[in-house]
Amino acid sequence: MSSTPSQSRTSGHDAGKPVGLSVNGHDLLFPPLPYDIHARADKATADKQLLDFVHVATYRKDVTRKQVTSAAFGDRHGAFRDLGAAIKQHTLDHLDHYLEQFVDNATAAGVKVHFAQNAEQANAICLDIARRAGAKLCVKSKSMVTEETQLLPQLEAMGVETVETDLGEFIIQLDHDAPSHIVTPMIHKNRQSVARAFERELGAPYTEDPQELTQIARAHLREKYRRADLGISGGNFLVAETGSVVICTNEGNGRFCTSAPRVHVAFVGIEKLVPTLEHLGVMLKLLARTSTGQPLTVYTHVMTGPRRAHEHGGPDEMHVILLDNGRTEILKPETREMLRCIRCGACLNACPVYRKVGGHSYGAVYSGPIGALITPMFRGLANYPDLPNASSLCGACYEACPVKINIPKYLIQLRAEMVSRRITKWSDRMMYRMWARSLGRGWTYRLGGWAQKLFFRWQARVAGTLESGDPYRARGWLNDLPGAAGGWTSQRDMPTPPARSFRQWWDEQNRP
Ligand code: SF4
Repeated sequence: MSSTPSQSRTSGHDAGKPVGLSVNGHDLLFPPLPYDIHARADKATADKQLLDFVHVATYRKDVTRKQVTSAAFGDRHGAFRDLGAAIKQHTLDHLDHYLEQFVDNATAAGVKVHFAQNAEQANAICLDIARRAGAKLCVKSKSMVTEETQLLPQLEAMGVETVETDLGEFIIQLDHDAPSHIVTPMIHKNRQSVARAFERELGAPYTEDPQELTQIARAHLREKYRRADLGISGGNFLVAETGSVVICTNEGNGRFCTSAPRVHVAFVGIEKLVPTLEHLGVMLKLLARTSTGQPLTVYTHVMTGPRRAHEHGGPDEMHVILLDNGRTEILKPETREMLRCIRCGACLNACPVYRKVGGHSYGAVYSGPIGALITPMFRGLANYPDLPNASSLCGACYEACPVKINIPKYLIQLRAEMVSRRITKWSDRMMYRMWARSLGRGWTYRLGGWAQKLFFRWQARVAGTLESGDPYRARGWLNDLPGAAGGWTSQRDMPTPPARSFRQWWDEQNRP
């Protein structure tokens, strides 16, 4: 994309109001509400190149996760996942206690801790810190929470040049694009698009060599680190017993962002706590193996306060902004389990729907199965009525999740809530009601099956694709059904039903 991004952030979740980063009139992260997934998903499924990038990358990551976790944990993998789930669940069950402990210990270490109820408050706190520090240049490491609050356009509007330093996020920023994966933000791009972005935006010579591309980014970013007066990061974990913020990166950019500038601000969701450093060890092992297939991320920074008198490196000021933004609502016992998420991205890689439609189709910061679950919780079920249905309920996400969040179970709960609150369309509710009734009575089910068979065979006859032969085997394909049934054949072919049904075959076989 070569357009200039327009920053159209507004606050609140009002239906119909566009919010978020807008490119060529398309709001990438926060589209107009209620969000209709179909247009973007149709566009994504028609883009073969995008599908190839996403499919190959997610498939590889999923295979690597399985190999690495099985080699590392063997038959103790299930027990390790149970342990990770128990640590997170225990912390969430006593979140008030651990939050207090974290605040006390972080404050004692010299950190200024702020609480933000929503995105607007979190951004306002950060802007105030930037203003008081007289910040002109900000370097930022990867943070999903700042995507959630849409901080960057606000800093830029205040005159603070803000540079993403994670390589993927940096390229996304150059392209005025939005991340499409929790861990690998530019999963929808390839080497050629990176080369074009560097040539166009940085004036670098065109090259597709990964080493050369990395060197171009490195040279550009080093200069920014040197001059930056504000560093912003997220936080993978918070450790209550020490008051530490932990970030995991593979590029070392996190350390530059948090130690080179005078002021460091960490944006972290309140659910990221673990009780002790011992618990942190378990979570780090799970996170690295399930997200990138590494034993440990290359850099794990445990930051406890600003620079001390005897230290050479580190910021003079360290702030932690603890963000709620809908999390305390999810903390109720019925949905608390969802907050165990450590944003490893494994459920995205395992999901057959994510692989087909990519991250932008979800119309929100968090995509894939966990996005389909928490986006409606954060931003209103009525605003995202398609997301609970954007799943085949195959269970691959549950199997992949290192903290055992039962995503399919909660998606079904959301679907039930949509029906009970009449968010589901009247026509859909009627159709499913009739379907349920027909399944409850043998004769209506048989009548429906018979009518459906006649209709499909008639369609195949009209299309000239009906083949004769064994009456008990499907013959020929349907690829252009009319009306609502066309939604199915627009993306895939369907076998023509056989002339005689399975029930007829069964009766014949079992005739005395
Ligand atoms: S839901 Fe589980 S698998 Fe998905 S990102 Fe969160 S921790 Fe990872």
